[in-house]
Amino acid sequence: MTSHASRVLVLNSGSSSVKYQLLDMTDGTRLALGLVERIGEETSRLSHTPLASGGAKREHEGPIADHEAALKAVATELAADGLGLDSPELAAIGHRVVHGGLKFTVPTVIDDAVLAEIERLVPVAPLHNPANITGIRTAQALRPDLPQVAVFDTAFHTTMPECAARYAIDVATADAHRIRRYGFHGTSHAYVSRQTAALLGKDPAETNVIVLHLGNGASASAVAGGRCMDTSMGLTPLEGLVMGTRSGDIDPAVTFHLKRVAGMSADEIDVLLNKKSGLLGLCGDNDMREIRRRIEEGDERAQLAFDIYIHRLKKYIGAYTAVLGHVDAVVFTAGVGENAAPVREAAVAGLEELGLAVDAGLNAVRSDAPRLISPEYARVAVAVVPTDEELEIAQQTYALVNA
Ligand code: ADP
Repeated sequence: MTSHASRVLVLNSGSSSVKYQLLDMTDGTRLALGLVERIGEETSRLSHTPLASGGAKREHEGPIADHEAALKAVATELAADGLGLDSPELAAIGHRVVHGGLKFTVPTVIDDAVLAEIERLVPVAPLHNPANITGIRTAQALRPDLPQVAVFDTAFHTTMPECAARYAIDVATADAHRIRRYGFHGTSHAYVSRQTAALLGKDPAETNVIVLHLGNGASASAVAGGRCMDTSMGLTPLEGLVMGTRSGDIDPAVTFHLKRVAGMSADEIDVLLNKKSGLLGLCGDNDMREIRRRIEEGDERAQLAFDIYIHRLKKYIGAYTAVLGHVDAVVFTAGVGENAAPVREAAVAGLEELGLAVDAGLNAVRSDAPRLISPEYARVAVAVVPTDEELEIAQQTYALVNA
């Protein structure tokens, strides 16, 4: 690798969007970031913030036909800031790839064989991997000479023991269809569990953490000595916690019941459970800010949705305390976890027997810094640690191309 190239472009390609950040890895500074939304529609939108120059955010509306056009538009924006993708300063492009199955346990330089394997995983990640593949192909076409690295959402969870990763179903059927618990948000769980150890002044290898990643999607993980022991998402991101629009755990028989009794198709049930359930299904809103506002006004549906959300969180805190045996910290992260003090307070309330408590004053402080919110006396630390998946992807990508 050329020694002076220190920039990494991080791409997170969704089915109709591309999020990107350009970072300088000499010190992890963000040079630019942005988002292309509604790709393929008439009303596509690109917003670009040139952080390096301190310039104002630029927004463009108008049709962007596909991912190739989107990435070209991003390249044009970056070039306007003197940060063009043709720059020799660019060391690599790091791609968030949702599903790496069992094979990809670490970040991987992408070649044809790797791309074929990511493609082979499409049946277990039909919503995500195709968009990731499109993003990779487009970036490769733009800079064929540049190393492209895949950083997998599932990789951190590949250390889960078989007893946590297997469903208790017929083994032959499970193996024939690669049905097992893979887990997601792994980049965030890895980053946040490490940052939490640093916050406690401890070696990650000697720290046990329960990570609660509460965004629109939400997942919990039990991390022992830097290794994932269990996580709440499974074959797909549907399992586990109550989320913005996903149900999380339900009796699987609900699906047969919906088919037999309500006459719903598999696709309709899929949409119901992934897009119309969770907080949205329960109360009509999936944004925790709006739900809290409604609760303040005495709205009972919003209160019940909140209570169901918290009840599930508590069950996972209890379960993962049992999985880990000893817990050093429970940590909240992502949009809800970082911002919603009432969620943190309620999730920990009544768990004093588990060594958990929240200090109301500390919990109310708004900050972007990693911080403790538990009182001095608490046996288990409770922390808020902002996640930074892009930085983690950039760091892993840069480390790999410089190895
Ligand atoms: P994603 O899963 O889309 O990456 P984020 O981690 O950005 O999501 O979280 C988005 C969610 O965070 C929003 O849907 C909203 O519920 C919640 N959120 C953001 N800001 C606040 C806030 N100030 N108070 C409460 N909830 C918030």
